[in-house]
Amino acid sequence: MKILSVNCGSSSLKFQMYEMPNKDVLISGRFERIGVGNSFYSINIKGEKKQIDVELNNHAEAVKYLVDELLENKIVESLEEIKGVGHRIVQGADAFDKSVVITDSVLNKIDELSSLAPLHNPAAIIGINAFKEYIPNATPVAVFDTAFHQTMDEVEYMYALPYEWYTKFGVRKYGAHGTSHKYITNVMNDYYKTNKKLIICHVGNGASITAVKDGKCIDTSMGFTPNAGLMMGSRCGDIDASIIPYMMDKANLNSKDIDKAINKESGLLGISTHSDFRDVSKGVRENDSRCILAYNMYIKRIVDYIAKYYVELEGADAIIFTAGVLENTPKPRFDIMNKLSCLGVIPDIEANEVIGEFKKITKEDSKIDCFIVPTDEELMISIDTYELVK
Ligand code: ADP
Repeated sequence: MKILSVNCGSSSLKFQMYEMPNKDVLISGRFERIGVGNSFYSINIKGEKKQIDVELNNHAEAVKYLVDELLENKIVESLEEIKGVGHRIVQGADAFDKSVVITDSVLNKIDELSSLAPLHNPAAIIGINAFKEYIPNATPVAVFDTAFHQTMDEVEYMYALPYEWYTKFGVRKYGAHGTSHKYITNVMNDYYKTNKKLIICHVGNGASITAVKDGKCIDTSMGFTPNAGLMMGSRCGDIDASIIPYMMDKANLNSKDIDKAINKESGLLGISTHSDFRDVSKGVRENDSRCILAYNMYIKRIVDYIAKYYVELEGADAIIFTAGVLENTPKPRFDIMNKLSCLGVIPDIEANEVIGEFKKITKEDSKIDCFIVPTDEELMISIDTYELVK
């Protein structure tokens, strides 16, 4: 059965088509700069890549090109073969604790939740409608980045703020990256053949850590928005909330200025002037003091959260390193494991040199196993969609 996995951003559309249940990738690609000029798309069919400049005024035009490519390249003979389209939805709040088939009422709810994800949910709705127009027979499915975190207890998800902020305005922890954390949980449960206590570190440009027990999320580091918890590429993560009104008064900033500062000008970028971890690493190698400070702050916060979740889980069986930074770089993994030696973590230095593939990177006598596990959110979306469609 052919299933399409789709991730719509405000000016982009990424897709991957799978033959399920074998999980074979038939085609993947991305449309970029939709509606902003100089748009183009790139596709990859069995390792063969091409990039084409085209005018893309909206997501529907991108879907039209996608459909044409599917037919021209004989990925499908007819669009009827595509049985499901799974859409990544950033914010499902407490309305969705699992993936669902998109009905009119689901679509309305996703729309209602747009105030909690103003850049993402509206883009997803545009994508859902565009695919409905061009592939009307495929069942649309919503896969929420927040759903996996809905198992948190209120002790974890409530903020110590006026209670009415929660009841009237929905202010609570929702988490993010849930599709990735769920995928990793499934991979690890398959590996161990049973549920284990896991601490999953998804550290890319955005970054979050989740504590998992019995296959369920019990706590996660992202919060009401994806700007909580860890220090990220350009997001500050946890800070003292009173810094915000202080800086608004002192530097005459409004809420938009503050939002930009804490989301786009902070994190690694704010401290070192580089948001990409590769640039920070280069600075560290060249002895740049601000890069060294940024790196040390970044690692410390990851270790702090692992320690917190180790206690919350009453011990952990495995720590998993995933996403752009931790899949691809041995040094931060080693430094994190080293700082956890008091918990009995013993790194396997040679194994830790592996990049981007599943690998156990601790010694046999380590009290906690550590792993590199490449995440695959597109595949997770496709699996959930397949399960609902079949
Ligand atoms: P997101 O999905 O949040 O945009 P990714 O998981 O793709 O982020 O991670 C992107 C980040 O991962 C980059 O900003 C870069 O810092 C880091 N990264 C990606 N590839 C590598 C690599 N080969 N070596 C070191 N860092 C990398």
